[in-house]
Amino acid sequence: MKKFDTIIIGAGPVGLFAVHQLGLKGLSAVVIDNLDKVGGQCIELYPDKPIYDIPAVPECTGEQLTKRLLDQIKPFDTKFFLNERVEEVKQKESNWNVKTTNNNEFIAPNIIIAGGVGSFEPRKLALKGAEKFEGKSIFYAIKNKDDFKNKNISIFGGGDSALDWALELSKFSNVTLIHRRNDFRGAQHTLIKIKELQKKGIISIKTPCQLDSIDGEENIKSINLKFDNGKIETVDTDVILSFFGLIMKLGPIAEWGLGMEKKTIKVNPENFETNKKGIFAAGDICTYPGKLKLILSGFHEVALASVECFKRARPNEKYRFEFTTSSKTIQNRLGKK
Ligand SMILES: Cc1cc2nc3c(=O)[nH]c(=O)nc-3n(C[C@H](O)[C@H](O)[C@H](O)COP(=O)(O)OP(=O)(O)OC[C@H]3O[C@@H](n4cnc5c(N)ncnc54)[C@H](O)[C@@H]3O)c2cc1C
Repeated sequence: MKKFDTIIIGAGPVGLFAVHQLGLKGLSAVVIDNLDKVGGQCIELYPDKPIYDIPAVPECTGEQLTKRLLDQIKPFDTKFFLNERVEEVKQKESNWNVKTTNNNEFIAPNIIIAGGVGSFEPRKLALKGAEKFEGKSIFYAIKNKDDFKNKNISIFGGGDSALDWALELSKFSNVTLIHRRNDFRGAQHTLIKIKELQKKGIISIKTPCQLDSIDGEENIKSINLKFDNGKIETVDTDVILSFFGLIMKLGPIAEWGLGMEKKTIKVNPENFETNKKGIFAAGDICTYPGKLKLILSGFHEVALASVECFKRARPNEKYRFEFTTSSKTIQNRLGKK
């Protein structure tokens, strides 16, 4: 079990800035996110779009903002646990015990929930019985591409993930790209490369069709595709990769006994504490009178929550408000002279 001063749930912009505010006060933090990368909505939904309302930054994209936040928290050497969802939150005397889907356990006097609109989850195949092959022959993300060498791979989807992986895996596997429409919405330059490989017989493309059934007991042997004209075609398949995009699910957060209002967590706007002592919520996930779902609001919220976190993590020390410009202690923590 790993002990920290604060457990941060969510690595979106607000979770990242929480690391900074806690770090300035000398508090350690661990960050857990269900996604395979940090940045939350900024990275997952609009990495290339410009944001115009971050104070003192006239314009930056979602990706640039994430990068700047990561640069800003570098001095704190924070541990990130990605690709895992926080499932369970339990009280242990004056601490909170957190368990993730990867069976990692953490303990801390404070939790800051910066869970946005919930965890991003892959949209799963609608076919009944498909779940029994999950993790063996059906995958919704790729952690290590070497696991997919020398196989018959059927890739479902019309976006960038489906196109990019079709191209990449065709270097060492037999790839069939399957989409329910004739048009792919992913990057056209990738599609052009895939069509060149199709002409050479390296990649096969099947459209407009959908998964109709799966053959195989323990593992998949082949799949049957149903075309819009009713025709059924069998494709030899060891592995299905499905990239139907992500959905946002509030998920287990709703089951932790927190005061909720319309899928958001009610907080005290003085310190952003929830109805549970030591559990705070900030960013899009929290609600209070006048709440604005803006990144800058989330930054303010974690600044105040971190003060309360200090009081709980260091009950024998007095909290002293200090400016970064004049505090030698803070400058040391930032690695400045
Ligand atoms: C298209 C678009 C444009 C936008 N433009 C602007 C703009 O110009 N200016 C602005 O201020 N705001 C803008 N926003 C809103 C802004 O992106 C959000 O306010 C901001 O991302 C909220 O940050 P957050 O850290 O609270 O949550 P998020 O960014 O949603 O991050 C939450 C993270 O928590 C993770 N998570 C949730 N539950 C769990 C769990 N149980 N276990 C593990 N991880 C979990 C999620 O996977 C996610 O990565 C825009 C939003 C969109 C969609």
